[in-house]
Amino acid sequence: MPAVYIGIGANLGAAQDSVQQAIARLCALPQTQMQASSGLYSSAPIDAGGDDYINAVVCLETALGAEDLLRHLQAIELAFGRERPYRNAPRTLDLDLLLYGDEQIATTALTVPHPRMTERAFVLLPLLQIAPDIHIPGRGAAQAWMASVAAQRIQIISIN
Ligand code: ATP
Ligand code: CA
Ligand code: CA
Repeated sequence: MPAVYIGIGANLGAAQDSVQQAIARLCALPQTQMQASSGLYSSAPIDAGGDDYINAVVCLETALGAEDLLRHLQAIELAFGRERPYRNAPRTLDLDLLLYGDEQIATTALTVPHPRMTERAFVLLPLLQIAPDIHIPGRGAAQAWMASVAAQRIQIISIN
């Protein structure tokens, strides 16, 4: 089964609770086992207003196909009241499929690796916490992208 990495973010409502509850929901997905879960991070919004985000990254092993998994992620977002009034709007919960094994996917619904993951400290830091040696298909070692996000404000708020 492929190792799959999911990026979690929230900055509306009880964001820390939402992220923790979302991790529990991911654990409970069918045909899926949780392999690792990062600590919780707090990060400044990028290209957007609103409160600071709570972020985490988890690693799952799943027999769900990528598009099927995305549908499950969107159902969980909806259960947390996710709305999309405009691009980068504050959100109760965002679940991004970052990596699906070593696959590169480009369909209308899904691009994997997530196209903006290497620009984001709130993805790279928790990802590297649970997978320090990880390579991103087509983009090399995740660690090598850290220098380019060094100016982004982020701190760890609970270590797992
Ligand atoms: P960003 O993609 O820059 O992180 P966002 O998370 O705010 O922004 P959303 O509104 O949550 O964007 O998602 C918009 C669309 O992105 C979704 O409808 C989904 O089909 C598509 N999408 C494409 N690739 C992915 C992916 N790897 N993970 C999650 N959604 C994806
Ligand atoms: Ca996102
Ligand atoms: Ca998203």
